[in-house]
Amino acid sequence: MKILLLGAGGFIGANLTERLVNDGKHEITALDIQREKLDETGKFEEIRFINFDIRGNEKELERLTVDHDLIIDLVAMANPSLYVSNPIDVFKLNFTENLKIAEFCVKHRKRIVQFSTCEVYGITAARAFGKDSSKYPTPFMEDDSPLIMGPVKSHRWIYACAKQLLERVLHAYGLEEGLNYTIIRPFNFIGPRIDYLPSEHTGNPRVFSHFMNAFLYGTPIKLVDGGLNYRAYTYIDDAVDCIVRVIENPDGVCDRQIFNIGTPENEVTIKELANRMCATFDKYFRQPGDPYPEIVSVSSEEFYGKGYEDCDRRIPDVTKAQKLVGWRSKYDLDSILFRTMKYFVEKHRAKQAGIQWVAT
Ligand code: UDP
Repeated sequence: MKILLLGAGGFIGANLTERLVNDGKHEITALDIQREKLDETGKFEEIRFINFDIRGNEKELERLTVDHDLIIDLVAMANPSLYVSNPIDVFKLNFTENLKIAEFCVKHRKRIVQFSTCEVYGITAARAFGKDSSKYPTPFMEDDSPLIMGPVKSHRWIYACAKQLLERVLHAYGLEEGLNYTIIRPFNFIGPRIDYLPSEHTGNPRVFSHFMNAFLYGTPIKLVDGGLNYRAYTYIDDAVDCIVRVIENPDGVCDRQIFNIGTPENEVTIKELANRMCATFDKYFRQPGDPYPEIVSVSSEEFYGKGYEDCDRRIPDVTKAQKLVGWRSKYDLDSILFRTMKYFVEKHRAKQAGIQWVAT
């Protein structure tokens, strides 16, 4: 199959590309505005890479769509600090530009695998009704759970809302024009190549990278509003394994389906995540002279600015992925943290020592 992978240079894209190249079954055209993470895979020579910004390249995008059998759309701004600082850019990229890809797929009758987000579920029903959601572990189900967002003035929801609208448009195109789509809702994937360390790069990445940065650069571990909200983490290799099954789509079981990809067993509060990472670092990676980061609590307004509101709890129901494509994740939280931290520690130590680094 000829696969057009849009957003191949990001965290999920680079890991997925590596796996697809290793499988050797498909011809990959990888598009992105960055290639560093793809370079790290050592597979760069085995794909066709085009340095490509989907914004303002419609003609070429349409030509490429026509030329491939399957379109995988990973193009997104998927980082909460950007939802607060750049809401219009977030809307335009995640909805307006992505809609063009979907419409080319409708026009040329191509199958699309569209990456969405677990954020479409918003907050829990418990939280919406003023209850303590830690007492109500209610998994989110793809086709049954309501999608509950906060008020408009909490503009962080613009990302979730843009993704939700895109999902709804795909569904409508499926009904009216027979578009063959599969939507994937990732639940907090982590692993090698996630984001960047904030001391080495401008910006405000997701939580794992902030905490990792603390061990390597001595910055404080900041618990936003005390770190009381929950996330359930999934190792990127597990996630990629499910994505590949969706791509293969045996007997069309994934046609016009939405899939949660997540690991309900790996749920922790952010405070627990910080403690687990501290323990993992001390046990496996600490060397003399490494800093001992302090753990502090900061307000969300201080950390993100006005307009942030958190998702309190997101437990994936993964019955559908198990039933339709036979997938369940394998990695528990401790092994996920160990593997992901190992990647960052080794890369950092090599850099400090001026040694050429190759991922193991
Ligand atoms: N968070 C935190 N400290 C940080 C960064 C994030 O406590 O340095 C919190 C954030 O408020 C949220 C959770 O960690 O409750 C996960 O945030 P992340 O940025 O990883 O993205 P999300 O899971 O919300 O998409």
